[in-house]
Amino acid sequence: MAFENVIRRVDPYVPGEQPKVKGIIKLNTNENPYAPAEGVIKAIEDLDKMDYTKYPDPEVSLLVHALAEYHGLDDDQVFVGVGSDDVISMSFLTFFNSGKPVFFPDITYSFYDVWANLYRIPFETKALTEDFRINPEDYKGENGGIIFPNPNAPTGMLESLDMIEDIVKANPDVICIVDEAYIDFGGETCLPLLDKYPNLLVVRTYSKSRSMAGMRIGYMCGSRELIKAINDVKFSFNSYTMNATSIVAGVASVEAEEYFRENIDKVIKTREWTKKELTRLGFEFPDSYANFIFAKHATVSGKDIFEALKAENIFVRHFNKPRINDYLRISIGTDEQMKTLIEKLEKIVK
Ligand code: PMP
Repeated sequence: MAFENVIRRVDPYVPGEQPKVKGIIKLNTNENPYAPAEGVIKAIEDLDKMDYTKYPDPEVSLLVHALAEYHGLDDDQVFVGVGSDDVISMSFLTFFNSGKPVFFPDITYSFYDVWANLYRIPFETKALTEDFRINPEDYKGENGGIIFPNPNAPTGMLESLDMIEDIVKANPDVICIVDEAYIDFGGETCLPLLDKYPNLLVVRTYSKSRSMAGMRIGYMCGSRELIKAINDVKFSFNSYTMNATSIVAGVASVEAEEYFRENIDKVIKTREWTKKELTRLGFEFPDSYANFIFAKHATVSGKDIFEALKAENIFVRHFNKPRINDYLRISIGTDEQMKTLIEKLEKIVK
């Protein structure tokens, strides 16, 4: 039929499974195993019932202001979206318009190529080194923009601020986006580089360190010019992206700094324990600075372990992709969950 030709066809991103059954151990989408701060729940409960009847603030001013203050920036340097997926998607649309290929690593967040394809943005992937590092020299050729996560996903590898600066400095004519979804779990943020580089954008999410994947909050920090540009695109797309409850919950999370830090410390402690146990069981992995570990066993295949864990109601993530199909990405859960995981793995890899 003729109309077949007018439809935009895309291969969608496939997120990790969200099983509906209770009682499983869910270590497959890098969620936080701990609840958000009490203040977050209270802020939602305290929302005036008439606030539900009105459209939310299209400028998300309260949350933008709280985040700007938190990071020592001005309000016009922060953009808030419906999860960082929304922020990054909108960034592809706003910032990658030169017609030249956007560069990102071959092993990285698997949504980047989906957005590039959706918006018909040419891209080139740059192979990580054998030990999953970014080679900055790969990012110095002519390009239409650069994006990578730091720490990278799904590897958990952290790159240094010097290396990031090297890339941003070498690319003054394009926009460089650093996706810091996992930076709170032990990495050094590149936010201080914003003062020096107006072509740099830093993306953050509430879904991991802030325990609020269900609220869908993400944001981006950068120069006024770039933040204005992405706001203009957002207002050309949908004025009311952030709902009223997410806005107040987001502000309350920023106000609960002590609780936030305690939560992160717990996850890091459990991660370090899990690393030792995985090593004992014959796994190897790049040293993770995120809330997950990307591990491969010396003798048992990633797919076999994935299936065996699933049969035990433990969900981890397996990517059926070249170079990484023997790895499993294991999110860090509670101590108890990780102990159960290690007990099961002990039997599986024997
Ligand atoms: N960036 C990276 C590197 C991620 O792993 C994720 C989580 N899937 C996201 C962005 C998106 O997270 P969210 O939309 O929940 O903020």
